[in-house]
Amino acid sequence: MTGTGGAVATKLSIGGDFVDALAGGTIEVLDPHDCSVLAEVAEARAEDVDRAVAAAHAAFPAWAAMPAAERGRLLLRLADAVEAHADELAHLETRDTGHPLRDTAALDVPRTAATFRYFGGMADKVEGAVIPVERGFLNYVEREPLGVVGAIVPWNFPLMFCSWKLGPALATGNTTVLKPAELTPLSSLRLAELIAEVGFPPGVVNVVPGYGPTAGQRLAEHPDVAKIAFTGSTATGRRIVEASATNLKRVQLELGGKGANVVFADADLDAARNGSAFAIFHNQGQACIAGSRLLLHEDVAEEFLDGFLELARSIRLGHPLDLSTEMGPLTSPMHRDRVLSYVKVALDEGAEILTGGGSPDDPRLAQGCYVEPTVVRADPASRVAQEEVFGPFVTVTTFRTDAEAVALANATEYGLGAGLWTRDLSRAHRMARAFRAGMVWINSYKRVNPGSPFGGTGQSGYGREMGFEAVHEATEAKSVWVNVDADLPPFYRRG
Ligand code: NAD
Repeated sequence: MTGTGGAVATKLSIGGDFVDALAGGTIEVLDPHDCSVLAEVAEARAEDVDRAVAAAHAAFPAWAAMPAAERGRLLLRLADAVEAHADELAHLETRDTGHPLRDTAALDVPRTAATFRYFGGMADKVEGAVIPVERGFLNYVEREPLGVVGAIVPWNFPLMFCSWKLGPALATGNTTVLKPAELTPLSSLRLAELIAEVGFPPGVVNVVPGYGPTAGQRLAEHPDVAKIAFTGSTATGRRIVEASATNLKRVQLELGGKGANVVFADADLDAARNGSAFAIFHNQGQACIAGSRLLLHEDVAEEFLDGFLELARSIRLGHPLDLSTEMGPLTSPMHRDRVLSYVKVALDEGAEILTGGGSPDDPRLAQGCYVEPTVVRADPASRVAQEEVFGPFVTVTTFRTDAEAVALANATEYGLGAGLWTRDLSRAHRMARAFRAGMVWINSYKRVNPGSPFGGTGQSGYGREMGFEAVHEATEAKSVWVNVDADLPPFYRRG
């Protein structure tokens, strides 16, 4: 494979060694631009996951006992290493996912470094608490690491999600086994090399690409794994909860979404069009927080749509390595077919395709996983307005009153991200409170930051990544009672 600045890592990373899978199997990794084979990587199965968990388990006591500042220093070094290899990592991520290079270079890689740096800085600032209890006693609470954390990530932002999962787990003294998605393991494997280079002790981070029903399932049910941090679909999230019952491990779930993006009549329509296009078309719509349901006030709906459709039609589709490309291919042929199947669902349901709805005509893109930006006027109760399409596919519905906007925004089983556009400050805050979502953006969309909690409610899962919330998710509280000078009641004293 060329264009990434070097050979691509293809072996499992277990206990500090780079090894083949025990059964010798491999996974073909495809280039979504033309479906050619980019690389073959070792395919971890249950026995390889067992080896990785054993390595993480063995590394845990020393890692947990290491001074927090030292753990932090390694994470800071990793952040520096990601930045030093930014160009290479951006190319690798682009070739593996189809995500345009201008985005991986400007967003994914810098955000990955920023997340490692944030949690590196936090490692020695995780404080306990002293609780005001009855006189004569001191009660303090310490936060302890859990043990081995299994991290299972999807294919839409593979590198960035590694940092979201590894950052808080490692900072707080846990060791990890990371299972990247089978479609997009390349940046995680390269990250494993950087992790070794900057000096993490062997076994603290293990990376085992493999298929969900084999490697992922084994990690989720493994008795020596203390927690699974999962990002992926709601259906898989349910399976992970079931598998976790073996040892009652802790589970954190970042699942699907169907984000409402609400444009009120007083909004700055230019800003709203631009932000709404980013909300749905960035990363080809393959984002759990995508603004995939546009709710437009009926007074401005047509004016908004005129410009929005023009913008959607003007988005430059092309080779993801071309810096002028604004939208690349979807990440896999299966996923392209799934997204296109929703166009048929929309037509069967009587929805109106306002633009897009197919693959682009350009013969240079014919072998790849490209889908046009697609805008569909749909009934809010229809399948296309309820189910997560996870592509450049947005439904449009109109509303009249604020109450109607809230009812429509909350009318799905998901509760992850939501956006709203208005110049009315009081409405903005009222709506933020009323929307059932883990994250709300006012006059913007899809902002994330390592310090700001990320996660959802309802069928979007539970638990939070990022910020101090993530530190709590990665640790257990231990309450310690000290009798300083309390007179104990006699209880069972005799004589
Ligand atoms: P997916 O659930 O199919 O796969 C996600 C990961 O789970 C992959 O690594 C896969 O191999 C693994 N997996 C599959 N079956 C498994 C099993 N039985 N046991 C253990 N692991 C298993 O999801 P996907 O299609 O790769 O990703 C897209 C989904 O992820 C969308 O629904 C999207 O909304 C969601 N997502 C959510 C967030 C969030 O933060 N809430 C972020 C990004 C993506």
